[in-house]
Amino acid sequence: MASKPPVSAATHCPYCALQCAMTLGPPDGDAQAVGAPVSVAGRDFPTNQGGLCQKGWTSGQVLRASDRLTTPLLRGPDGELRPATWDEALGVVADRIRQIQSRHGREAVAVFGGGGLTNEKAYALGKFARVVLRTPYIDYNGRFCMASAAAGANRAFGVDRGLPFPLADLGGAQAVLLLGSNLAETMPPSVAHLAGARASGGLVVVDPRRTPTAALADDGAGVHLQPAPGTDLVVLLALAHVLWAEGLADSRYLTSRTTGAREVRSSVSAWWPERAEQVCGVPAADLRAVARLLAAASPARGGHGAYVLTGRGVEQSAHGTATVSAAINLALALGLPGRVGSGYGAITGQGNGQGGREHGQKADQLPGARRIDDPAARAHVAAVWGVDPRDLPGPGVPAVELLRRCGTADGPRALLVHGCNLVVSAPDATRVRERLAALDLLVVCDVVPSETALLADVVLPVTQWAEEEGTMTSLEGRVLRRRRALPAPQGVRTELEVLHDLAALLGVPTGFPADPAEVFDELARASAGGVADYSGLSHARLDADQRGLFWPCPATPAGSEPHPGTPRLFLDRFPTPDGRARLVVVEPDSPSDGLRPDAPVHLITGRVLQHYQSGAQTRRVAALAAAQPEPFVELHPLLADLVGVADGDLVQVASARGEAVAVAHVTPGARLDTVFMPFHWAGPGSVNRLTLDTTDPVSGMPDLKLCAVSLRPAPPS
Ligand code: SF4
Repeated sequence: MASKPPVSAATHCPYCALQCAMTLGPPDGDAQAVGAPVSVAGRDFPTNQGGLCQKGWTSGQVLRASDRLTTPLLRGPDGELRPATWDEALGVVADRIRQIQSRHGREAVAVFGGGGLTNEKAYALGKFARVVLRTPYIDYNGRFCMASAAAGANRAFGVDRGLPFPLADLGGAQAVLLLGSNLAETMPPSVAHLAGARASGGLVVVDPRRTPTAALADDGAGVHLQPAPGTDLVVLLALAHVLWAEGLADSRYLTSRTTGAREVRSSVSAWWPERAEQVCGVPAADLRAVARLLAAASPARGGHGAYVLTGRGVEQSAHGTATVSAAINLALALGLPGRVGSGYGAITGQGNGQGGREHGQKADQLPGARRIDDPAARAHVAAVWGVDPRDLPGPGVPAVELLRRCGTADGPRALLVHGCNLVVSAPDATRVRERLAALDLLVVCDVVPSETALLADVVLPVTQWAEEEGTMTSLEGRVLRRRRALPAPQGVRTELEVLHDLAALLGVPTGFPADPAEVFDELARASAGGVADYSGLSHARLDADQRGLFWPCPATPAGSEPHPGTPRLFLDRFPTPDGRARLVVVEPDSPSDGLRPDAPVHLITGRVLQHYQSGAQTRRVAALAAAQPEPFVELHPLLADLVGVADGDLVQVASARGEAVAVAHVTPGARLDTVFMPFHWAGPGSVNRLTLDTTDPVSGMPDLKLCAVSLRPAPPS
């Protein structure tokens, strides 16, 4: 373990991609005392301006979880997990991997990463899979999060950075169109940046649910459009139709900076607002008013700027990439991307969802966000890794397909899971549990006994956020230092140490340093020349700049000024072969799981203020668990009457894949035809028992947001 940690540390929140700045330290200044309470204070920073949400304020309690894992666990012949030494546990993992690969081939071992891992861990995991295991089977839970936004941005702009501008730029905008994002609950401090749009009456929230974010558009602050679930794409096509039909599109910008406008203009001509209203339920007059509001805010028409932003609500769909493309088409028609004070962006969800996909744990990418099938990229990365590029595996498969293949005759027989609670967060979770149970070997690295860890053959206890050094990349593409504030409990190791030790046991004794700064330096070299270029960055440079630095930040020649980083992308050109952004024709498709007599109600899923992702961390924080203790289903009073339940009753929700039981929250803000459930819980109330694993053909994103269900009062237990 590295040197003694300081008594307080300037670091960032362990949870979402806003990566709010905070200072950690015990109230009495004795950070060295193992088990001492950890104080948390918000720290001034451009994104959170000193603020934290309830999750951030209570994040110190995660460090003191009463069931913290502190010793490796091995499943014995009796089926029970029992404590083991590190040597014993790692020896078993290495032996079993060797046996499985010698019997079934290299592809019989797979790796599943997470969007909360530091950049260093994400990089080391990708390298471990390709250099030590030599398997193509690696992907991560960002596939459930940012994959559609990434695919849409890559094909339009040639690069995928959630926000290609600093979040604080939003503050000066006259209008913000926010699609499928409940910022007021998922990233509360970010709401301050919507103040300009609200003051101008220009906040437009598109969400089938009346969320706290939708309520921000009340009282003259803007508009809430409440479309039928799954019809966001039609809303976007109608908005684009109005722009062109009324001469509001920025034709000069479209001509000089884009391609594909003519084809898109032609395709949206069929989506006049009255036709769109028939599909999405949003009044045609509202669609026209919103298109005019956005156009008035655009720089081309003398406005103070406009942004189009998407979130998981529209992206977690088998049509997610098409919807993102429609949002980008709209932003391009308005002339927004690449102009200071305007733009398109995706609100990344997980803490390192951005960096997590840039350094090689995505099935189709190498470090630097390079395509794994690009010969030049393979040669560059192979040279940094000291291997022959011909020995690097090719592209793997997206996460859902990887899980489908687990435990099958031709698929992976062993899976290593890092930073992910799959049996709660993956779609069609019952089937995922079955696939994991069919494996010959499941190894889970975690900090607490998550539901996935409890299924494992080997559990390896690892350090968590405030016990280790590293870097994260926020939703803005801002690279930040995560700092060690306190000692880890006796018995745990960092994941970099685990990979170092396992690599050595599997015959690769060098190339996997356990020092995060050393790993970062190699990551930076591997990223050099890629679109996500970190080569001008180092831990020391990030330590000297408390505000972080935006990629791309390439290395500069010795003796010259370091590159300042790139807060705003696309100001001169887009990183496409011709320097232009590409509009892409997209058409709506029918929902994967349409309503029918035996499943007449839409189910949509999402997050609540108090919990984060699968809830493995936040369910262990007493204040958060008390404030939001159990799974619930939100439904309209008339639907509740029809089902025969009252507020507080237990409701059984059933889809074609399974059943879940949750407490009824009856609210007039719900649509009559739609119920909402959060996904933070395991067990009978786990909503991903109901969701389907149909995927987007472009991004591999599963259809997590929407399925058809029936409801009835839960039978007495
Ligand atoms: Fe943490 Fe996100 Fe809350 Fe900020 S908004 S305190 S990063 S969970």
